[in-house]
Formats: sequence, C-alpha cells, structure tokens
Amino acid sequence: MELNEIKSKFLNADRIITILDKKARFRASFIRNSSTVKTSQEKHNLAQFPAALLAKYLTSASLISSFLKGEERIILDISSDGLLEKVFAEAMPIGEVRGFIRYGNHSDSALKKMIQNGFFKLSKILYDKGEPVTGIIEINSENVEDIIEDYFANSEQVPTFIKLETGFDDNNIIKSSAGILVQSLPGVSLKELNEVRTHIKNIRSLNNSLNGDNDLTNSLQQYLPFDFDVIKTSRVDFFCRCSKNNFISKLYTLPVEEIESMHSEHQNELVCQFCNAHYYLSNDDFTRIINDLKAKKN
Ligand SMILES: [Zn+2]
Repeated sequence: MELNEIKSKFLNADRIITILDKKARFRASFIRNSSTVKTSQEKHNLAQFPAALLAKYLTSASLISSFLKGEERIILDISSDGLLEKVFAEAMPIGEVRGFIRYGNHSDSALKKMIQNGFFKLSKILYDKGEPVTGIIEINSENVEDIIEDYFANSEQVPTFIKLETGFDDNNIIKSSAGILVQSLPGVSLKELNEVRTHIKNIRSLNNSLNGDNDLTNSLQQYLPFDFDVIKTSRVDFFCRCSKNNFISKLYTLPVEEIESMHSEHQNELVCQFCNAHYYLSNDDFTRIINDLKAKKN
C-alpha cells in the first residue's frame, strides 16, 4: 500500500468517540461507521430496507456498548412473529460489531408495515455479573430511534436521546452511516433534558464528514450544547470471531452417527449466521472427526 493510501484509510476508518459533559450531567457517544454497515449489507446480501434496519441496530449496539469496558458486550435482539423474524446486533467497546437480519421473502414495503409488531431485548454481558443483565419491551413504533429511547425510558429509567442516519447510493448500497446517543446522568433537570433533546433532534446531518471533516471531536462540539471531556475513542469494524475450527469443535458435541450422515449426504457446508461466512468440510475433516468420535466412544 502507498503511504497516502494507508493515511487515507486510517483517516477514513470507522470510529466512535465517548465523552462526558464537563458538568457531569450527560454522557454521549458519536459514531461514524459507513464501511462497517456497508460490510454488513455486503456480507448478508441485503436489499435497501433490511440493510438500513440492520445498520441502525448495529450502530445502536456500538453506541450503547461504548459505555462498557473492554470485552463486555451489548446484544440487541429484535424478534417478531410478523414478516420480520429477527434482527440481531452484538457490539463490544473495543470496536467489534456483528449481526444479522432474518425475514421472509417479502417486498420492502410489506416489511416496513410489519416491523412494529414484536419485542426488543437488550442484554449486557458484564465482567462483574455471572448472568447477562437483560431488559425487554414490546415494540410500539417502526422507528428504531423511538424504540431505543422507549427501552431506556421504560426498562432502565435513563432518559436517552439517539439520532441515527443511513444514506444509500444510486444502487441502493449504503454509502454513509452515523449515530449519536446522549444519556442523562442522575440529577438533571427537566429543562436541561429538553434543551439537549431539542438540540439532538435538530441536528441536520451527522454525515458532514463527507465534506472533509473527519474529526469526531470537532463534529461533536457542533452537535452538543455543552462542553465535554473525551473519555475514549476507538476504531469500529464489522468483525466476527467465527472460524472453521470453532465450527468443527461444535461438531464434536454431536453423535458420531449424525456426522456420518452429514458426510454421506454431502452436507459439508457450515454457515455462520452472524457474518454469513461459509466454511467447507473436506473428506479428510470428516474422516478425522468420525475417527476421533469413535475413539472417544470406545
Ligand atoms: Zn461469523
């Protein structure tokens, strides 16, 4: 790679910034993640509407996870018995995010109508808790921003404002994505809350980086009506921890007969639901697994 190319890749990398209000009334995160969500659209081969929906949940998961530590995780799990079956988004504060959307074979406009029937579940996997901390609400909107704000207001009693933006090119491929999330800390007055809310909702565009300004801190200074300290910044990537070896180790938990029938029926394809990666088992792989399982049995 040329030096300039490396430089521009670095400058244009997806990033997230987390800040604290100097008066400690609010905390906020701001993300620009165009290539991350474009990758999710490409990996899952999505049309415009499902791509936008998945992008908004991936962006939300990244924003919410930014308040956690290290490899703690946020999982958003949206389920519906309607046309839209499931949206799943998982993010870590170190910048990894992955997810998928599952829906029947329906048109974008049919999907749009059905999205408001279902449940929104948020789970936090935290270092100091043995079990995930989970909250759930019934979905009463087709707007992802409303659903996230509703969840925090009703399930966690934390006033939260979020704005999400996804832009598409002429071929319905994601070309830009950004999001901002502001949460109030205890003791904030209603007046202060409303002021910040109005400010966030009136932001015209979160994607003016396309005009050359890549600095998240600069942008955030325009968006927020208060002074702040930067807590941390991180790169963001669509990243899945799956591997062929992970899948093979799961096969070792199955009965040997099942592996043998997979082999005889040529079911040698393993697909990761999170990132749609395809792995293939060779005849040697099958022989090895079957021999190992038989040896274990004896
Ligand atoms: Zn994967």
